[in-house]
Amino acid sequence: MVNAQERIDVIYNVVKNRNPGEAEFHQAVWEVIETLTPVLEKCPYYAKQKIIERICEPERQIIFRVPWEDDNGEVHINRGFRVGFNSALGPYKGGLRFHPSVLLGTIKFLAFEQTFKNALTGMPIGSGKGGSDFDPKGKSDSEVMRFCQSFMTELYRHIGELTDIPAGDIGVGSREIGFLFGQYKRITNRYEAGVLTGKSPLWSGALVRRESTGYGVAYFAEQMLKARNESLDGLSCVVSGSGNVAIYAIEKLHQLGAKVVACSDSGGVIYHEEGINLDTVKAIKEGARGRISAYLDEHPEAEYRADGNIWEIPCHLAFPCATQNELDENAAETLIENGCKAVVEGANMPCTPIAVDLFLDSGVGYGPGKAANAGGVATSALEMQQNASRDAWSFEYTEKRLHAIMANIHSDCYHTSEEFGAKGNYVVGANIASFRRVADAMLAFGII
Ligand code: GLU
Repeated sequence: MVNAQERIDVIYNVVKNRNPGEAEFHQAVWEVIETLTPVLEKCPYYAKQKIIERICEPERQIIFRVPWEDDNGEVHINRGFRVGFNSALGPYKGGLRFHPSVLLGTIKFLAFEQTFKNALTGMPIGSGKGGSDFDPKGKSDSEVMRFCQSFMTELYRHIGELTDIPAGDIGVGSREIGFLFGQYKRITNRYEAGVLTGKSPLWSGALVRRESTGYGVAYFAEQMLKARNESLDGLSCVVSGSGNVAIYAIEKLHQLGAKVVACSDSGGVIYHEEGINLDTVKAIKEGARGRISAYLDEHPEAEYRADGNIWEIPCHLAFPCATQNELDENAAETLIENGCKAVVEGANMPCTPIAVDLFLDSGVGYGPGKAANAGGVATSALEMQQNASRDAWSFEYTEKRLHAIMANIHSDCYHTSEEFGAKGNYVVGANIASFRRVADAMLAFGII
């Protein structure tokens, strides 16, 4: 009889051998399954039914060619992906990422993470993710439109409001969602609002969706501090990135009384001791689609560090909101030495496994992305709810729902960590709480 730990090791080896070269996918799988040993011990039925083995295998993976023409008439070929990972709790749900680094393994790690994140929201959504190695940076609006139209010309046959509902992720915002929806509507002859989320509120989108991931991250941090009888008031924060997640994390952190002193983009870091001016960041990133270095034009007293390391800036709270594996063990050591209280993930898998272990071992609070950044997809589910009932909710009501969902996610993770003897370890709490939810639904359906 193999014990639970041996079983987990065997499963991990199968995942590695079956998905060669997909290091990020291996990492995401290991980060979840290494915490599941006590669940298998407590409930051997999961092992007998091979639930972990099933959860680690995507239900479907679609790869397609995306040809398009640039403004000079040159033809380009990109690769498109959509992975439907798990549909036990609802139709596949998850964003699209357009970035030159995207490979199948990237999409699989994101879709796998999405399985647990979406389960934590408590909403009826399964998991998926998609995207392309297309780089929207430096492309004209017409080029982005032609790319999106070509991408949807294949994708449309695989998605639907009851099948698979894409949304945004890195490189995909409301401009891209608009082009994608326009093409879907044209091809299918259906105004099927619920097939995509992250739509503009001008045409069937939900208020608060744009803000929701970042707001949710700040709410999760607030809950983590509350559990330690502390508050955000007066704390200094560092937020990496300056995209949609970072911008609205900064906005809510400021509203809740904290001060964000740094943000970044792939070119460098802005450090502004008196606090980041968010209007300037929005004007650069949402308006001009420019580089964060332009911040100095408005605030010459701030500092720009080209290729700088944002984690060297002393802070009480760190929010990695850029991309996967952006915060490594060296950064973790620096943060710990500088007295950081907690690290809360806005991006998906931004901390490396060793960095996570360092935080857990040193008592630094650590909020994993699958819990802390679930507010975005949760609000997508609220958008689907509004679309299904042909309704449009107010900003205040939607934000109240988001706040309640984040508080619930926090207490679910916290209580589950307690139940498994690891009080305050949100990795254990998030993985086990979500795993049980997905596993129990799968068991109900038989061997599928
Ligand atoms: N891409 C976001 C995430 O990582 C949102 C997905 C969605 O709204 O479907 O959760």
